[in-house]
Amino acid sequence: PAIFALRSSHFSTAAEPSSKQGSPPSVPNLIGGSFVKSQSSASIDVINPATQEVVSQVPLTTNEEFKAAVYAAKQAFQSWRHTPVTARQRVMFKLQELIRRDIDKLALNITTEQGKTLKDAHGDVFRGLEVVEHACGTATLQMGEYVSNVSNGIDTYSIREPLGVCAGICPFNFPAMIPLWMFPLAVTCGNTFVLKPSEKDPAGASVILAELAMEAGLPDGVLNIVHGTNDIVNAICDDEDIKAVSFVGSNTAGMHIYSRASAKGKRVQSNMGAKNHAIVMPDASADATLNALVAAGFGAAGQRCMALSTVVFVGGSKSWENKLVEAAKALKVSAGTEPDADLGPVISKQAKERICKLIQSGVESGARLLLDGRNIAVPGYEHGNFIGPTILSNVTADMECHKEEIFGPVLLCSEADSLEEAISFVNRNKYGNGASIFTTSGVAARKFQTEIEAGQVGINVPIPVPLPFFSFTGNKASFAGDLNFYGKAGVNFFTHIKTVTQQWKNLPGSGVVNLAMPTS
Ligand code: NAD
Repeated sequence: PAIFALRSSHFSTAAEPSSKQGSPPSVPNLIGGSFVKSQSSASIDVINPATQEVVSQVPLTTNEEFKAAVYAAKQAFQSWRHTPVTARQRVMFKLQELIRRDIDKLALNITTEQGKTLKDAHGDVFRGLEVVEHACGTATLQMGEYVSNVSNGIDTYSIREPLGVCAGICPFNFPAMIPLWMFPLAVTCGNTFVLKPSEKDPAGASVILAELAMEAGLPDGVLNIVHGTNDIVNAICDDEDIKAVSFVGSNTAGMHIYSRASAKGKRVQSNMGAKNHAIVMPDASADATLNALVAAGFGAAGQRCMALSTVVFVGGSKSWENKLVEAAKALKVSAGTEPDADLGPVISKQAKERICKLIQSGVESGARLLLDGRNIAVPGYEHGNFIGPTILSNVTADMECHKEEIFGPVLLCSEADSLEEAISFVNRNKYGNGASIFTTSGVAARKFQTEIEAGQVGINVPIPVPLPFFSFTGNKASFAGDLNFYGKAGVNFFTHIKTVTQQWKNLPGSGVVNLAMPTS
């Protein structure tokens, strides 16, 4: 299989003999610069969602191995924090070049483990690559402030310093982009890192990216990887030596991690679930809007935190519905490696079951099923976890399928009589990741921008994932913490401020001791 076909990899040499014997390779941890096989007797199968082939086995790393990874990161911090920021940036300059070199390999491995189409997997890598490019400017981004002569002969300045060992816990849906949201900025700010990839796709990107980072010159121990599930995550939250935790994933896990890690005094940034809405005004430009709804509703089989999962048509949905169904029917569902596939499978059998259950609950509570993808047959991939594009209309705010994140290729349609009514429909939902409006009216767009309760707002744009010089700014139940991922906020998350006040002047000894609060 394509997976682990790594150039000069510790992993490939370890993995190839066992794959030849027919048993799937064990995904290695990365501890102190070495890829090592876990001694744990417990592991989970990593399954190709299009074929059900067992691609590899991910270990449930032991506590000793976890402690060794944290120790390696703590040791590496002693010298890495003093490595000039220009040298740390140079590693990122090299890393972005190496990711470009190996982007096809990364994409193929992502598709094998995660299921998304190859083209989409390229996008996954590329959107992470942009954060690596951004990290190349860390010196400027972490510049402090200086005020000269705050008092007679006294200057005050602030400097940003790294925190120490930071950790990242990743979801399955962007195996390259999310780790790249985390470790490049963290390490270029001078921290060291322990990464816990998703157990569903632990190697396709993370292990390769770590190899590339080391090839780019990242010293041993600066980036470590430990695999596992809840126990490792809890160990990360509790560990005294870990200073900050970055999490991306579902609300259940995210709120647990946010409270457990912050109770231990760590800073936490927790990006969580979503229910992103589009409001379509009657004056919206028809073709562009339809294309946007179909692409953002069904792309990546709806498994994006910025997928558009609900559309509210102002002034009636009838004129849109047929066209929407026609466009969705034309999409090709197949394995992500098939060149003409528009959408691949969902991640697991359990995910498929959960999605189908939410579709059924919508039908039972009165929604109309305009297109049903639940029983789709995909020739050549009969065992894959496929769901075809599905459209439900007449959806109301209180339906289970609207309240919960579906995370599948399902588009919900609703109607509103006015923009006010549509905005209030959207704002009733607990999530606040992103929302878009499609209109040719500046007045409507501006009202929407002001009143909508979402952290990322699109105006005639379906998936407004900000580029790395901004930050990813989810809102309400979609985010916990106060310093967002990447951009200026990301740098602030990975550094703390020291404020220095210095006095350099010839001090005539007056012999008077003044105990009053100093004033200038
Ligand atoms: P998930 O929460 O199931 O898993 C994420 C990580 O948390 C994994 O590494 C997993 O091992 C760990 N985990 C899961 N349950 C845990 C528990 N009970 N205790 C401790 N650790 C636990 O999420 P997923 O299914 O992999 O990813 C999909 C979710 O991620 C969706 O909700 C999606 O919206 C969200 N997501 C959000 C963003 C964002 O930026 N807001 C981006 C991508 C994905």
